[in-house]
Order: sequence, then structure tokens, then C-alpha cells
Amino acid sequence: MSDTLLQVDSLESGYGEIQVLWGVDLAVSSGEIVCLIGSNGAGKTTLLKTVSGLVQPWAGSIRMEGADLTGCTPDAALHAGIAQVPEGRRLFRTMSVRDNLLMGAYLRPRKDPSIPRDLERVMTIFPRLAERANQDAATLSGGEQQMCAIGRGIMSRPRLLMIDELSLGLAPRAVELLSDALVEINASGVAILLVEQDVMTALELAHRAYVLDRGVVKLSGPSAEIEKSPEVREAYIGIT
Ligand code: ATP
Repeated sequence: MSDTLLQVDSLESGYGEIQVLWGVDLAVSSGEIVCLIGSNGAGKTTLLKTVSGLVQPWAGSIRMEGADLTGCTPDAALHAGIAQVPEGRRLFRTMSVRDNLLMGAYLRPRKDPSIPRDLERVMTIFPRLAERANQDAATLSGGEQQMCAIGRGIMSRPRLLMIDELSLGLAPRAVELLSDALVEINASGVAILLVEQDVMTALELAHRAYVLDRGVVKLSGPSAEIEKSPEVREAYIGIT
């Protein structure tokens, strides 16, 4: 876990006049699962969106495998190996599961022979999607929609997969299936940056964690240490 993939330094960003991130430093190394926790409005989604080029940075830098991505377009971030699974999944509701997955490969040459193989791999990770490949995405359950959104992310062959709110609105069994899938995806060489409101789920999955508070990194370290921190237990887990 030594090669740095994503390196974010002194990042500031926001919307219009409102500053949300106030000098965030964060790194993800290859092979890692890193989670980002923090209360509502702390800036977690804004951080992911700034990395993926959906929100422009005001200051600081974003590097991926050493290449400068600061202020890049979403397409450039995808080209650089970063895929984002957005909050709310954002599937194409009237398109089939298969076509939604194929949309994830839109930057790859249309006749790339590895696309069908990758599609098969996604279906192997998520057998439910194989069973429902021809079904409209809108008819999937919440957990299946999240599988489809993650699968779509994988179809771009990312080296870093960023997931915004894995478990939101899902039953515990669905979260378990998704967590197992993320472990499998990570073991295949994809690093993961996870924003998750369920702090226990996040800390169980991740090797390291960052706690964001009002746009500032308040704490960071191995998940086991963050879980023991009295501050985190009191503020986010509800145990002291
Ligand atoms: P949550 O867990 O509730 O999703 P978060 O940590 O992901 O919160 P963000 O969604 O990044 O937080 O929001 C940080 C701040 O930025 C909030 O105060 C929010 O109101 C504001 N914000 C988010 N999106 C926009 C926008 N498009 N325009 C203006 N302000 C925004």
C-alpha cells in the first residue's frame, strides 16, 4: 500500500460565494479502501465532486498517479482512471441494466473486445444484475440499483472508484452484499474512496479513514484507530 494514486493537497472549493472545503489534504494509495466520514454538510460530496471535475477547485491541487488533475473536466478525470458512483445512483431509468452498464464504458473505443469481458465480470461480481440484464433500471430494488451504479463505474476500468453514500436507504442485507462486492473489487486492484453516513459500515470496510468537519480534515488514520477515538465514538457512532 505504498504507491500513492490520488493526492489531494490544500484543496479549497465551494459554490458561488460559499466556501465548503478549507484546505483538505487526503491521499489514497493503490490497494486501499479509504473512507470519508463526517456530519451532514461537512463537504464530503463536494470533495468527491471536486476530485472528479464536477466542481471546480478554488485553490490547492489534485494529482492522480503523479499527473496534475487540478481543475480538469469530468472526462479527463475518468481518462485518468477515476470513476465516481454518485449519491442517488443516477441510473438511466428507462434503459436496461446491460445498457446502463455499457454507458460506463463510453470513453472506451466502441469495439474494444475487452468490453464484453468486463461486462461479464460485473455480472459475475453481481449475479443479480445478470438475472436482470434486460430489465429497465427503474424496476430494480435500491440495492440492485446500487450494484448497477457500481458496475457502471467498473466498466470504465478505473484504478480509483469513488462511491458517494453506499448504504443510503438500503436494507442491512443489501449493504452486506455490496460490502462483500467492494472487497472483491478492491482485491482485483481497484482502490476505493468511500463516502458513507453509516460510520460503522465505513470503518469496517476501509483500511483508513478521514473525518471531515465543516470542510476541514479533523482526524485521519487507520480505521481501527479512528473507531477507538473518543471524539468519533461520541459524535458519529453514539457510543462513549
Ligand atoms: P451530506 O452527508 O448531507 O450529503 P456532505 O458532507 O456530503 O453532506 P456536501 O453535500 O458536500 O456535504 O455539502 C457541503 C455544503 O455545500 C452544504 O452546506 C451544502 O448546502 C452546500 N452545497 C452543496 N451543493 C451545493 C450547490 N450545488 N450549491 C450551493 N451549495 C451547495
